[in-house]
Amino acid sequence: MRFNPSPIIKKNFLNHSFFIKRDDLLHPDFSGNKARKFHYYLINDFPDIKRVVSYGSNQSNAMYSLSVLAKAKGWEFHYFVDHIPSFLKKHPHSNYKNALSNGMKIYENDKDFMQNLIKEKDTLFIKEGGAVKEAEFGIKILAKEIIGWASERKIEDLKVFLPSGTGTTALYLQKHLPFEVYTCACVGDEEYLKKQFLQLEEEVYHPTILKLDKKYHFGKLYREFYEIWIKLQKETDIEFDLLYDPKGWLTVQKHIELFKQNSLYIHQGGVLGNESMKLRYMRKNYADNKNN
Ligand SMILES: *Cc1c(COP(=O)(O)O)cnc(C)c1O
Repeated sequence: MRFNPSPIIKKNFLNHSFFIKRDDLLHPDFSGNKARKFHYYLINDFPDIKRVVSYGSNQSNAMYSLSVLAKAKGWEFHYFVDHIPSFLKKHPHSNYKNALSNGMKIYENDKDFMQNLIKEKDTLFIKEGGAVKEAEFGIKILAKEIIGWASERKIEDLKVFLPSGTGTTALYLQKHLPFEVYTCACVGDEEYLKKQFLQLEEEVYHPTILKLDKKYHFGKLYREFYEIWIKLQKETDIEFDLLYDPKGWLTVQKHIELFKQNSLYIHQGGVLGNESMKLRYMRKNYADNKNN
């Protein structure tokens, strides 16, 4: 499995022009920043490894991408979650379904077994969301693609934006780019994100965190999220992710004076996971209509 550099295109949105790095187009099975984060594992040989073990949410993009990696490597994939809703068990869909069909073994609330597996020498353990130092390898390649593109166009004041979960992608991008990297915290608050950064690198490499006035909770549904997502689709003809990108673009909108020109938004994939988010939004809209 190989990745070619992903394209960068120009689109208008919010009455401004943005460059968009289409990392969602990297590979059909293995998209976005998870492909970048796990690139290191994909191209190196690990003769002593038999299985990969990780944990997180039951629809996560990292879970799906790890199932693709394990399948390509011929590894077992053991994934641990707190809970699987009975609806999802009865009607598997989206990342959950696709990861299962790649051979993922999923466990509910079984931390002891996870600890036992981690102790095995032939286990590769990956922290939630792929927040590992090895992610730097692939993200550095992403940074090099951006540097090459910007120097061809003689852009020296590029402003890069991407929404953060664990912050791993934004952090390593800032480390390897001579440009300012801006991000927002989608999981937890700004303090949480700073702590995540510090676990990986010292402060000199930290990206700039931009804030919104309103507090949003990760994975919850918000009308303004859905609205900006629909508007994005209409105006750019690109499907963005429904979990991180709505907050990302709302943040860009609020701080638009920073992004007046030479701005690059990184599309980090995750579109495969939209299936479950769209279902949830549809049910929510239905509920809203009934209440009105
Ligand atoms: C995982 C993911 C993120 C968050 O990436 P981090 O490196 O954890 O900050 C953002 N967007 C999408 C689409 C993702 O899949």
